[in-house]
Amino acid sequence: MFHAFLLKYAEIGLKGKNRHVFEDALVKEVAHKLEKVEGEFEVSRINGRIFVQTKSEYDYDEAIKAMQKVFGVVGICPVTQIEDQEPEAVIKAAVQFIADNYKDKNFSFKVNTRRANKGYPVPSMEMDARVGEAILNAFPETHVDVHNPEVVLSIELRAEIFMYSKLIKGAGGLPLGTNGRAMLLLSGGFDSPVAGYMIARRGVYMDAVYFNAPPYTSDRAKQKVIDLAEVLSEYCGKIRLHIINFTDIQMAIYQKCPHDELTIIMRRYMMKIAKHLAENTKDCLGLVTGESIGQVASQTMKSLYCTDDAAEFPVYRPLIGFDKQDIIDKAEEIGTADISILPYEDCCTIFVAKHPVTKPNLNVIKCSEQRLNEVIDDLMQKAIETDEVIVVGKD
Ligand code: ATP
Ligand code: MG
Repeated sequence: MFHAFLLKYAEIGLKGKNRHVFEDALVKEVAHKLEKVEGEFEVSRINGRIFVQTKSEYDYDEAIKAMQKVFGVVGICPVTQIEDQEPEAVIKAAVQFIADNYKDKNFSFKVNTRRANKGYPVPSMEMDARVGEAILNAFPETHVDVHNPEVVLSIELRAEIFMYSKLIKGAGGLPLGTNGRAMLLLSGGFDSPVAGYMIARRGVYMDAVYFNAPPYTSDRAKQKVIDLAEVLSEYCGKIRLHIINFTDIQMAIYQKCPHDELTIIMRRYMMKIAKHLAENTKDCLGLVTGESIGQVASQTMKSLYCTDDAAEFPVYRPLIGFDKQDIIDKAEEIGTADISILPYEDCCTIFVAKHPVTKPNLNVIKCSEQRLNEVIDDLMQKAIETDEVIVVGKD
């Protein structure tokens, strides 16, 4: 059983004066994610390394899973700490480490010692050689390959000494809270949760908005979106999910505007309301959608041109160049696919035209929207007043 973990994070973006800000954010996030795991953990930052030390019995699999949800962590190395610092004792511990962690000894390896404690009596190259030799003697099936080894045994000689050889892949990206906040347009499909995940992974906190259309959409559809936000919050912390009643706007568009333009016009009003919410949210500097070029009629270049025009705010579309299958694969990986696949109706699918425009013209769309002139300001105001905020997840 391992009693400590070394967390690796990408150096890019962490250089310079901001480095400690990123590292502190990372320490905070790791500690926070581990709070939900059985056991006691201590997270600390030592000389540009982040360490997790376990202070009690703990659930290994759950601890790894939790750390894999921390953006900014590239890899998780379970480490063994060596109490006796004498070189001979460290060499013996290295042999024991291989004995404990590898059943089949038929592999190539190299030893990689780092001597951060310059007072340590053996230089790192000599340590590599002595440990390597001891392993070869103990396990003659092994062989050394310094260029392309199957196993790299890393030994760090610091105030404390520890060794590790496994790197479990982390989520990557940048720590949450290092890049402000954005407003995700979250529907029940596969795309928007993945889009939110990808932006959050760059260190951005998420809030979200869902447009529902009761009684045309059911409580189950709303619950589905709340459930998706729950899964997302496991990665990106607290999400304030705004639920906006969009029925009256949708009905007005349906009654007054050409049906082949419905989706585009609807999308434009969603953008306007999302922008309003973003402007009233501290530090919120962008909207996020799950759109991808050409996926459906409302996502052709011309359609996106029309949608974007209404936003008058930065819109981030991280899936823009993704194929649907790539998006579904990602949804499976992050755990939103099982919810997204549920068949509940969405407000857009109910009022959808048989033959939606694929090449809308912005002037024509704006002209159609004029038919809403008398009612739209009032309807927008009323829709905004229906805002129900559901707080999902914790800070
Ligand atoms: P998704 O899988 O995310 O539902 P989709 O493939 O169904 O997307 P559209 O329905 O065209 O695509 O929606 C495009 C984007 O518009 C969505 O990714 C989402 O960001 C936003 N959106 C659509 N419907 C809603 C809604 N009811 N509430 C909030 N945002 C929505
Ligand atoms: Mg959708």
